[in-house]
Amino acid sequence: ETINLGVSFDNSYVKQMDGFYAQVSGDVAPAPSLIALNKPLAAILGINNVNQQQLAEVFSASALPMGAQPIAQKYAGHQFGSFNPGLGDGRALLLGEVIGNDQQRYDIQLKGSGRTPYSRGGDGKAVLGPILREYLISEAMHAMNIPTTRALAAVKTGEKVMRSGVKEGAVIARVASSHLRVGTFQAFAHDPEMIKQLADYCIQRHYPEVLQSETPYLDFLIAVRDKQALLVAKWLSVGFVHGVMNTDNMTISGETIDYGPCAFIDNYDANALFSSIDANGRYAFENQPPVAQWNLARLAETILTLIDQDEQQSIEKATQVINDFTVSYQAFWLANMREKIGLSTAAEGDSELINQMLQAMQNQQVDYTLFFRSLAHSLKHGQYVVSQLFTDTRLLDEWYSLWLARINKESISVEQRIKNMNQVNPLYIPRNHLVDEMIVAAEAGDLSYFDKLMLAVTNPYQAADNMEKYAQAPNNGNNTYTTYCGT
Ligand code: AMP
Ligand code: MG
Ligand code: MG
Repeated sequence: ETINLGVSFDNSYVKQMDGFYAQVSGDVAPAPSLIALNKPLAAILGINNVNQQQLAEVFSASALPMGAQPIAQKYAGHQFGSFNPGLGDGRALLLGEVIGNDQQRYDIQLKGSGRTPYSRGGDGKAVLGPILREYLISEAMHAMNIPTTRALAAVKTGEKVMRSGVKEGAVIARVASSHLRVGTFQAFAHDPEMIKQLADYCIQRHYPEVLQSETPYLDFLIAVRDKQALLVAKWLSVGFVHGVMNTDNMTISGETIDYGPCAFIDNYDANALFSSIDANGRYAFENQPPVAQWNLARLAETILTLIDQDEQQSIEKATQVINDFTVSYQAFWLANMREKIGLSTAAEGDSELINQMLQAMQNQQVDYTLFFRSLAHSLKHGQYVVSQLFTDTRLLDEWYSLWLARINKESISVEQRIKNMNQVNPLYIPRNHLVDEMIVAAEAGDLSYFDKLMLAVTNPYQAADNMEKYAQAPNNGNNTYTTYCGT
């Protein structure tokens, strides 16, 4: 049975990339039911004239949409530093690609729809809690202007799935500009022709501007570097800890992918870490930029022969690009952080000023998100609204006067500055305690918590009536929260 979604698929990966994937078919779900649908995104994709039951069947992989050619993509990856040559979509199924009415090309992928040739020991399934978590956090990221895969729909399958206890099976339909990863390159690194084919495909799809260049593959590496540097700078600006920055979870497009063990920090802590399996803190909050740089080096290694015919030249050029990750990252980070503290101009010493602020926050049990909203607020009501967030204000006092002196060099009204700050500093983020509360309710059959939390985090900047709960830090904001992979 096929269902007409009203969209026409154009599956370039299937057509052009034979050998880079396996054809698959999802499992038929016993009783699929739609639990969430992203209507604005469905509209961009041109999905229309389908009823809820048909959507539930399509997005649980129980029925194929007309034009889809379902595949699992092959990839490899460094997981916590060790290379695993045999990864791939183990519980994901790529339905195909659609050109949206914004003229962009999108992958539509189902996660949790059953086993594939890359499932290894896994069951290919996903369960309700983590599916709603990904749905919510990815849409929150999008609302905060952070590149990410997006949530199109969530479906309960009606199947029981074994995790820690019996859980309800669920599938998320997610949309991305592609699902190509650093790990995709690693899987084909042994074959120069396949690497060239993959690089050409990625350039065509994501970085067509480098086709004009005399050194397209070097410029491709630079373009990927800058997209990933921007991404990680944005993560740090909102207190996001991805949690599993393995090379198979770093996209070539620079979109956030894989929301398994991620979490937002409540209290600021440069070393914040949530994942139960990251004992050494490889993917801790402040380690994320150097890890992204390390991952970029793994990508560079796979395309060395394309960069220059002379091996030594190639290594030197690639090394320069990788070294300059820190420059690229630093520029994006500084631009973001300047806006967060209300600056609209650049001046010497801003970087030091911002680092001094973070040092003042370290070990002070200061809620990172509320700090910036309070900072804006303090322009009207005085420093105390910030001070009350701190246990010991000595470092803050020093910093706050420096900050006032710096902002007062800019001629801009207090009202305008507050407005600017509140437009970039979220009030509502998917806080861990709220996400957990939502999951407990959903598992008990109550989706109203999901709907309300979605409303808050997809409108993150504008304080709304009766939403105080969603702005509040947890009573115990000490980042002792734990997240789990592979759930
Ligand atoms: P992740 O840590 O989520 O990036 O996943 C790493 C690898 O494990 C990927 O190849 C996934 O497709 C695979 N995987 C994760 N969970 C499952 C599962 N339940 N069944 C099959 N494969 C899985
Ligand atoms: Mg993954
Ligand atoms: Mg995962």
